[in-house]
Amino acid sequence: MNHPPVKRIALFGSTGSIGTQALEVIERHPELFSVEVLTANANDELLVQQALRHQPHIVVIGDDSKYTKVREALASSDIKVFAGEQALVEVAAMDVYDLMLAAIVGYAGLKPTLEAIRNGKAIALANKETLVVAGDIVMQTALERRVPVIPVDSEHSAIFQCLVGEARNPIEKVILTASCGPFLGRKPNYLVNVKREHALQHPNWNMGAKISVDSATLMNKGLEMIEARWLFNLRPDQIQVVIHPQSIVHSMVQFEDGSIKAQMGLPDMKLPIQYAMAFPNRLANDWPRCDFRKFNTLTFDEPDYRTFRNLTLAIEALKKGGNLPCVLNAANEIAVWAFLRNRLGFLEMTDVIESVMQRVAYIEQPSLEEYFDSDGEARSYAADLIKI
Ligand code: NDP
Repeated sequence: MNHPPVKRIALFGSTGSIGTQALEVIERHPELFSVEVLTANANDELLVQQALRHQPHIVVIGDDSKYTKVREALASSDIKVFAGEQALVEVAAMDVYDLMLAAIVGYAGLKPTLEAIRNGKAIALANKETLVVAGDIVMQTALERRVPVIPVDSEHSAIFQCLVGEARNPIEKVILTASCGPFLGRKPNYLVNVKREHALQHPNWNMGAKISVDSATLMNKGLEMIEARWLFNLRPDQIQVVIHPQSIVHSMVQFEDGSIKAQMGLPDMKLPIQYAMAFPNRLANDWPRCDFRKFNTLTFDEPDYRTFRNLTLAIEALKKGGNLPCVLNAANEIAVWAFLRNRLGFLEMTDVIESVMQRVAYIEQPSLEEYFDSDGEARSYAADLIKI
């Protein structure tokens, strides 16, 4: 059988939960994928280990104080080493790869991802914050450059998979499923005492710290609603969230005839990662399969918007649009950062986000520079409120 040419992958955020799982997928298919770029922020040891194993062209360490250490550790190889925030953007523009797996967490992923799109690179998008902050500009640029943006987030991958073969059929609505994290059914009198360790224990998924906290507060679902709006060109009222604690139905699409398609499977991020990298092909694997005799009860419920107010705030940002999602995201990043350091309570995160959303001036159609400014302003308001 003839294989397509090897796809050269740039793995931005290779040391994270998505990044390490992507390397597992790549390792199983050397005939399809090669690793050309690896990047980390501070975890130099894992970055070096990955580089020695996968022999990319280039590695980038975001934290420039670690540059010498990484360079020395890779001195006996041909691997080029760069450091710093600007290097991430410059490497994203280089002609050494075909597809970027955008797996940096948070706002930090926006600039490299946008630069990759500007340079015509296909994107497998895990970094949802890129679309939350500047989804209009990112998707418009992708359209102009004819760049595919293929979702990695399991819900959006599910929707994307449901849409294969449906190009001419409008979507009536999408139904995003939410497991609701570790605090399903809990009320504020319980949540007020929740600490970092507890919030990080997601029942179904093993993820990085920030998205684990976002899942526990339901902010993650709000960010995903905004992500869906841009990925699939939807109106806010076409996006519905249902609580589905079993995480078997990864999301659904309802068409204009009332027919609903769902994509299902066991919760394992390797599947959407692999699908995005190999699209439009499906690659055989021997991962565990879903046996419906064991999952014989799948449930779907309305979210508790009054308790999980982050979701309510995200919906407000989704509906108002402009720079509000960017402001929400920035305030949330600071709040989660502080919560993870035990400097802010679980419910206080919502108060900070709400105050920041009220304080930063609304801009209806921001330029990219205005998005950057709104992000900075929101971060500094949030930091003031938390006194950090
Ligand atoms: P992790 O925290 O596990 O990993 C984040 C990666 O980004 C690491 O490689 C980290 O480097 C790097 N990074 C962090 N901050 C910066 C920075 N300022 N500049 C450059 N690089 C940075 O996150 P996840 O893998 O969990 O998530 C990545 C993205 O994918 C997020 O946007 C998340 O929402 C999304 N996602 C994740 C899912 C999951 O299952 N984990 C599911 C769906 C979406 P270092 O290790 O050196 O800190």
